Amino acid sequence: MYRRLLLLGPPGGGKGTHAERLARELGVPHVAVGDMLRREVAADTELGRRAQGFMDAGQLVPDDLVVGMAAARLSEPDAADGWILDGFPRNLGQAQALAERAQDRGLDLVLVLEVPDEEVFDRISGRRSCPRGHVYHVERNPPRIPGICDEDGEPLYQREDSAAEVIRRRLEIYKRETSPVLEFYERQGLLRRVSGLGTPEEVHARVAAAVHDL
Ligand code: AMP
Repeated sequence: MYRRLLLLGPPGGGKGTHAERLARELGVPHVAVGDMLRREVAADTELGRRAQGFMDAGQLVPDDLVVGMAAARLSEPDAADGWILDGFPRNLGQAQALAERAQDRGLDLVLVLEVPDEEVFDRISGRRSCPRGHVYHVERNPPRIPGICDEDGEPLYQREDSAAEVIRRRLEIYKRETSPVLEFYERQGLLRRVSGLGTPEEVHARVAAAVHDL
């Protein structure tokens, strides 16, 4: 069974949803760098203040802020037997940093959720999030009471980076910066591409099949 996994894909591709579920099933931590950054912003830390402008503009946060944060999380005791990294690495520099760090243990599998651009726009513009990380879509997965999280009653918000021009920039950055990362893993024979289209159940079935190497 694979235990050191990366989940990559375009913004709005379903990385968060599927990484979280898979992590629960495998009993390993879900290490979501975007969520960690949003927590730093919410807590108004030094790192959060430095990261926020980049995030709101849909740009990558500089490597010196992100790499140390991800490495520190992977060094925690609960990550000793595996982890699922979500949204990291997003450029070749980060992939190199991870390769150096993971040398002794190696990566098992890199899964890419493939979703066309139009679908990304639909998903992100309808997305509503609660401060504790539950995610809805106004049409496809609405909460029972509009604007309120089913799980914890918190008011839902729309992320700053969900405006159309910001989505466009995030897609551009994905193609320019993250595509070379996919090639990097493809050359190592670690990459599996999975269609991210369909219901969450359908996508999960594909993800689980890839992970169990069926
Ligand atoms: P996500 O929640 O994965 O969509 O990430 C939201 C935002 O956080 C991105 O648009 C970036 O600004 C920032 N971010 C997340 N992961 C990384 C990363 N590996 N490198 C640089 N910036 C990141």
